[in-house]
Amino acid sequence: MISFRSYVTSGGKHPSLWKEFGELPEDILDLYSKNARETDSKIALILRRIGKDPSKEVYTSGWRSKALHLAIYAARGVPKDEIPMGSRHLTCQAGDVWDPDRSIGTAIQLQPELLQECGLWMESLNATHTAGDPHRCWVHLQTKPPKSGALIFIP
Ligand SMILES: [Zn+2]
Repeated sequence: MISFRSYVTSGGKHPSLWKEFGELPEDILDLYSKNARETDSKIALILRRIGKDPSKEVYTSGWRSKALHLAIYAARGVPKDEIPMGSRHLTCQAGDVWDPDRSIGTAIQLQPELLQECGLWMESLNATHTAGDPHRCWVHLQTKPPKSGALIFIP
């Protein structure tokens, strides 16, 4: 379910980490709720534009606390000083939507003008679609442009 609540509580991808680190501080919720609502509504919009029902889609990652973000990279073995801290997930300006059959990413890639219309930027599918593993296929969408400004960008 694509929704504000599922965005800010998206523990689907890392439920154990979410349990440990994901208590949502009220001040953060206030600070970022505007961003989260904007991100969620733009993602729902682009899903509808490609003929998907947002209520049937799932966030694998929405808002990440700094602690959760650090833990995700630490679990992958990335040294602390090499962890990228510019992720839009930290400020509720990015969401990952599960894309097990790759139909979402493929549809957006074929019509990149939809990103512009919806005010979104997407990470290259090379970075988010893992061949042969539907659990490691998602689409990363964000509401702020990357440094390159490209609608579809390499993270
Ligand atoms: Zn992402």
